[in-house]
Amino acid sequence: MSEEPKILASISGGKDSLAALITHIESGGRCDGAVYCRIMFDDETSAEYPEHEDFLFSKCFPTLEREYGVKTRVLQSPTNYIEQFYRRYEKGKNIGRIQGFPCSIVRGNWCTKLKTRPINAWKRETGKFTELVGIAADEEKRIERDTVKGKVLPLVEHGITEAGAREICKRHGLYSPAYTKGRERLGCWFCHNQGVQQLRLLRKKYPEYWKLLLKWDKDSPVFFKPDGHTVHDYDCRFQMEDELLISADDKVFRWSMMDEALNYRLF
Ligand code: SF4
Repeated sequence: MSEEPKILASISGGKDSLAALITHIESGGRCDGAVYCRIMFDDETSAEYPEHEDFLFSKCFPTLEREYGVKTRVLQSPTNYIEQFYRRYEKGKNIGRIQGFPCSIVRGNWCTKLKTRPINAWKRETGKFTELVGIAADEEKRIERDTVKGKVLPLVEHGITEAGAREICKRHGLYSPAYTKGRERLGCWFCHNQGVQQLRLLRKKYPEYWKLLLKWDKDSPVFFKPDGHTVHDYDCRFQMEDELLISADDKVFRWSMMDEALNYRLF
């Protein structure tokens, strides 16, 4: 007799993955375990925002186990972001050069391998299973991509949007404190895909992290953003906002405004 495949949840501790898991269980579904992949910044420190890291280990994982009987397995790559950032090419036309920021249109984002490799190894070891995925009913593109055999999308099945997912997590005391002041997405604090408001918040709330980004910006042979903007560009922009020389309203901002404001300051 063949065993029923396991049902496992892939979680980040963000609102969508947790709301999906809660919704699945509360509507009578079974979950045999959760998996979380931890990206490390260096040997000691996680890449998560500190408040999210604390939430994961002191609140989220214990609550899932205690309230829902779901134990979380933590995966981790043997290498980390900083090691890879300063890793030198050993062959090819860039031989001897460091990798720098992962934002490369040609070579893709090397940082995602810090997650996909441990997850793929775990999938090979686990064998066949059904995966619970935290995609909300209003994320059309992601739904299209992830509606495949072997994956269950509880939020989509129940018509729950991102706003609905947020409410579910809040109701169950599982809403990460890292969602704060305009931070809509979690992920690595140094992520090059972060929006302007998240970067603005990082500079304000974690000046020591921002200083590190500025240092890497000098060392990196690759621009921070694919459009060629650097961390120093953003630093200059935020500084000018602080000095009220330009507006902090992202909707009206143009990079040329910075030159205009600088000219004004010079004359
Ligand atoms: S969150 Fe950003 S930095 Fe972290 S792995 Fe994903 S793309 Fe890379």
